[in-house]
Amino acid sequence: MPNPVPTTREMERINWMEFREWVPERIQTVLLPLGTLEAHGATANGTDIIAPVAIARAIADRVNAMIAPVVPYGFTGVLDAYPGGFTIPEDVYRAYVRAVVVGLAGNGFRNIILLNGHGGGQTAVLQSLGQEVGRETSTRILVVNWWSYCSDVVREVYGEDGGHAGNTETAFMLAVDPSLVQKDRYSGAEMATPIPAPNTWSAYPFPSSILLYTEGEGYPDFDLEKAKVYFTKVNEKMAALIEETIAKWELAKL
Ligand SMILES: [Zn+2]
Repeated sequence: MPNPVPTTREMERINWMEFREWVPERIQTVLLPLGTLEAHGATANGTDIIAPVAIARAIADRVNAMIAPVVPYGFTGVLDAYPGGFTIPEDVYRAYVRAVVVGLAGNGFRNIILLNGHGGGQTAVLQSLGQEVGRETSTRILVVNWWSYCSDVVREVYGEDGGHAGNTETAFMLAVDPSLVQKDRYSGAEMATPIPAPNTWSAYPFPSSILLYTEGEGYPDFDLEKAKVYFTKVNEKMAALIEETIAKWELAKL
């Protein structure tokens, strides 16, 4: 008799014999985290990698999913001039992620959930790939930008809007591991710039690595207890989206 749960949900840790016992008969869903290396104010350059991996680990049991190894390199864009970050050219990135998703489909997963940690050009690539590969492989693909899907959670916990490397991500990193946040390197508002309204201005490199969604709101507050509440609520909302989406796919017999 196989165990009631797999010994691990992480695809790089399970062996092929056990994988075969679970997928696709008893596990039809895979979570694929995707990030990039990019400056994030007082927190880690790998925030966009670490956050979706943490979400995947937090929700995999609840949504009965395997966790695919993260795709760590991505399309960083306007912040790639900051030390330690860089951009993978779009055509290369697209082809590589496409092969990863096709590979997951080929292993029998029916529901492929792309947990994206980074926005801008990367979001556009993933959304178009999701549709293309879903159609081609007859799988069901959900692409979710966790920070923007959960922007209401920031407002609920912090009473204001968040920002790139603001509370939205800095608090999330604090909850994952406080050593990922260096409060003493944060010098306040001078380190942040509001995201320009569309077609007003743009700059390369962007002048700050903290980008506020609303001017004057979203500065990191470094409050660990609030961060833990926020982390739990984000994971709850993410798991609910995945459950509801799969339930509706099932209902529609897609
Ligand atoms: Zn980020």
